[in-house]
Amino acid sequence: MTLMTGAVPGTVSQVREQFGVWLHENEELLRRLCAPGMDVAATFTAQRELQKLLFDSGWIRLGWPEELGGLGGEMILRAVVVEELCSAGYPPPFSFGTQEVLGPAIARYAPPQLAADLLPRLLSGQEYWCQGFSEPGAGSDLASLRCKATEDGADWVIAGEKVWTSWAQVADRCLLLVRTGDANSGSRGITAVMMDMDTPGIDLRPLVSMNGDAEFCSLYLDDVRVPRSRTLGDVGGGWAVAMTILASERGAAAWQRQTWMRCRLQDLLRQAPHLPPAVAGEAYELIHSLRLLSRRTVRALSRGEDIGATPSFDKLLMSTAEKFLFAAALEHLGPTVLFDGDAASAGWRNDYLYSRASSIYGGAAEIQRDIVAGRILRLPGRR
Ligand SMILES: Cc1cc2nc3c(=O)[nH]c(=O)nc-3n(C[C@H](O)[C@H](O)[C@H](O)COP(=O)(O)OP(=O)(O)OC[C@H]3O[C@@H](n4cnc5c(N)ncnc54)[C@H](O)[C@@H]3O)c2cc1C
Repeated sequence: MTLMTGAVPGTVSQVREQFGVWLHENEELLRRLCAPGMDVAATFTAQRELQKLLFDSGWIRLGWPEELGGLGGEMILRAVVVEELCSAGYPPPFSFGTQEVLGPAIARYAPPQLAADLLPRLLSGQEYWCQGFSEPGAGSDLASLRCKATEDGADWVIAGEKVWTSWAQVADRCLLLVRTGDANSGSRGITAVMMDMDTPGIDLRPLVSMNGDAEFCSLYLDDVRVPRSRTLGDVGGGWAVAMTILASERGAAAWQRQTWMRCRLQDLLRQAPHLPPAVAGEAYELIHSLRLLSRRTVRALSRGEDIGATPSFDKLLMSTAEKFLFAAALEHLGPTVLFDGDAASAGWRNDYLYSRASSIYGGAAEIQRDIVAGRILRLPGRR
């Protein structure tokens, strides 16, 4: 492994140039860590290793504050790292999604010492975290969540249920939303806490999704004790933490997704020589439009601006592009892609099935349209 050499890059073009050299020097190792066809356990192991490699060499420390283990500079610098990684043909580690989704909220809302302790563990791949928001009956209507936290001495005592918690079975910690107000307190009575996944009282049951992976889990929390020092932001201020996380999930994560989709479109053009030009053109248009939209969001995030509800546009376009691309792949790669056992066919099938989830996770498409209509276009609400 080679380390980042020379001065820490401070501009997008410096990152592109220096990271390109680094990618070339580490090609053999990277190819091994990103080999297709690994099962879920092997993928997690390889991605932790990849993440450590990128952390130790400095690249994914770009754009995080120095006091939290970063190298400083703007967040756009590490967005470019992901893009260059994909352009060179490597899939971005899916933990990058977690980092960009949960990392900014930890940096902003965790007590400084806690943030300084936790964030480097996430960035370096030492730990994986999950997101405990959704509950049965509280997905789109997140403000109605019921998982209850009661104060007891220095702890919160938490009881309730979470569902669709992605990869909770491999997670070391969970960023959990709990109700600390009364049952009718809505979004004002929610608090965010960081829970260790090895705390007694957590019963975790994996749920298999349609691509065959046990990605999801149900979490049953039976008087789980979490130190109150693990509270993120204010007690009763969890909604602000949740909105920061959802803005990151819809915004920065869309950037990663579009870099990866560009790469998959190239794969499709190579593997489906008879792809109709109109289909290829539409896929390109959708992905490129997403890139332009997402670039605006990443720049705004990078400047520390409040991006409000605008990532709902990114999220909608992301799911439209993703569904179009992988439906086109399944239609035009020929019938054998549905059954063949080779890694490429399995990859296309998996990407097609997962694309169906893109208009659900991070807030369903109908909810994004509602946000765009009400908060951006200011259309009158339903009576
Ligand atoms: C791949 C994947 C990963 C996920 N990972 C996580 C995770 O790690 N952590 C986590 O907490 N959650 C996770 N989720 C859950 C996700 O956040 C919820 O599925 C999502 O918010 C929708 O909630 P729901 O499933 O309860 O559906 P519901 O809220 O019951 O919605 C069902 C349908 O009704 C529509 N609908 C609901 N309310 C309205 C309305 N007011 N107006 C118009 N239409 C409406 C929705 O758009 C949707 O089509 C994940 C989901 C997926 C698919």
